[in-house]
Order: sequence, then C-alpha cells, then structure tokens
Amino acid sequence: MNILVIGELNADLILRNYSAFPSLGREVLVEDATLTLGSASAICAVGLARLGEQVRFLGKVGNDHWADLCLNWLAARGVDAGPVIRDATTQTGITVSITSARDRALVTYPGAMAALRAEEIDLRALTGCDHLHVSSFFLQPGLRPGLKRLLECARRQGLTVSLDPGFDPLENWGKDLIDCLTEVDVFLPNEVELEAISGHAEVGAALQSLANGRTLTVAKLGAAGCAVLKGGEVMRVPGFRVNPIDTTGAGDSFNAGFLHAWFKKTALEEALLFANACAALSTLSPGGIGGQPTESQAQELLMKGACR
Ligand code: ADP
Repeated sequence: MNILVIGELNADLILRNYSAFPSLGREVLVEDATLTLGSASAICAVGLARLGEQVRFLGKVGNDHWADLCLNWLAARGVDAGPVIRDATTQTGITVSITSARDRALVTYPGAMAALRAEEIDLRALTGCDHLHVSSFFLQPGLRPGLKRLLECARRQGLTVSLDPGFDPLENWGKDLIDCLTEVDVFLPNEVELEAISGHAEVGAALQSLANGRTLTVAKLGAAGCAVLKGGEVMRVPGFRVNPIDTTGAGDSFNAGFLHAWFKKTALEEALLFANACAALSTLSPGGIGGQPTESQAQELLMKGACR
C-alpha cells in the first residue's frame, strides 16, 4: 500500500529509569539517555515502513539541526520525506520523555509542528496514495481547523483515512475532533483519550457513544491490549506478556501494526492481535522506533502466543 502520513515531526530525548521522579528544585539521575526520532505521526510512519508499506511523510520542520536529524532518521528507515516543508521562520520541536517501565512523563516544545496549516498542504502529495494517516490532532493547532476538509479531499480521491487523536495538553478535547470522525475509517485513541473525547469512563459505553456507522474505533488499553465494538458488543483482545523497558511510541507502533493488517483485510481479532504484538515488541527498546518489528518478527511473537 502507498500511505501518506501527515503530522508532527520532532526529536525525542528519552531519559530512562529515574532514581526518583523530578520535583522542583531537585536534581535526579537517570540510567540512560537516547536521542531518537520522536512524534507520534513519524513513529507510526516508520513502523509502517518497517512492515513493508510504501510511506511518504508530510510535516513541517525548521531549518535547523533537529530537522536534519529527523529527516535523516526517516530516510534511513525508508520513509520518503520529500513532502516535508522546511520553514526557516520556525524551529523544529523536541520532546523530553522521562520514562520508566511503568509509565512516562512528556515535556514538549512544539515549535514547527504547531505551524503546519492544512491550507499549505500541496494536495498533489495525495496522488498515488491509498491511505492517509494523521496523528496528534491536539498538538497541531495550525492543522486542526482545516483537517476535516483535508480528510474529505483524501476520501474523494479514494483514499481510506485513519486518525490518532493523541493527548490534548490543554485538556479541552474540543468537539471538532468528533466532527472529523465522519471522514475517518479507523480511529485510534488510547484509554485516556477515549474517555476524555467521549465523556464515558467505561470503554464499552465510550465506544458505543462514538459509533457513527462508518468509523471503526480501536481503543488502546496499555498492557491490557485493546478493544473494539464488534456486532454492537465489546471485543477485548489482550496484550502480550513482555517486560517493557520503554513504552514511548507503543501506541504508534500499534497503529502501524493494525493498519498493516487492516489493509490486508485480515479478520478483526487477528488484526488486533497483530497490532498488540507490534506494540509489545516496540516496548523492548528505548524510544519509539528502535524496537519496531518486521512482519516476521511480529508473527514470531504471535506464534509464541504469550498473551495475558
Ligand atoms: P499509547 O502508547 O498511545 O499511550 P497504550 O498505552 O494503550 O497507548 O499502548 C498501546 C498498545 O501498546 C497497547 O494497546 C498494547 O498493545 C501495547 N502495550 C502498551 N503497554 C504494554 C505493556 N506493558 N505490555 C504489553 N503491551 C503493551
């Protein structure tokens, strides 16, 4: 499949295994530091390429060292970064991730990612693509107002569409996201995002409330795996038993795995298992892209079948 990913592009500095979580006025130590490709959209793009898809990426970066690093990381992993817009008036963003096996805290300087506007996207980037994926709706205030029209345009050109909302740092969770869902085939929130967007704490009720007859919503539930509505009933697919060292980007690797299986029209439960496998493997290396599996590596975990 030919896939266009539109979204944020920035570096991640991952500080892993803290002696204590940082508090104001104190200094803490971590066991290691990794500088790597960050941003949900880019990590998903690399995950898709790793699974053998043809991937093109469109985002905005500054004209700086971080941008060079990000573009090199994409190119080295087979993602065509040709459509990326370089804008010397902005600075490429960075996320500092303070992480442990259990969870993580993220601090993001958005920089150029906030500056990408839907109107400046050259629609020729859609030509020849079968699918459009967008991540981090709430981190991209420039893209957000014109996103629905962009998705409509992609669908008119025959592309399928997927959307991962990502977290809203302002925690406003605007209704414009739900408005976009009429143009979305696959919606991929995690549990926190699903609850905030739907207004329902219980996963089944949340999934029911978003049902619009078109969109397949896949709820990512951390170590517990994931859930969807199938025939009006909640179907839960457990996660794999692994010992994660860093969960950064697990949801983005899940997206890549699910979309890869969905493109092949794999049965829903099997596609969700495959996605859980891709996500679980991604947690075994620091950063979002280091542990992303090939198709055969994910299949190997599926054969072992060590679900919770
Ligand atoms: P996000 O990374 O977007 O916050 P989740 O935390 O729900 O989303 O994780 C995404 C997916 O990663 C889950 O659906 C699951 O498949 C996998 N995953 C996350 N944490 C673990 C874990 N501790 N063990 C195994 N799989 C995990």
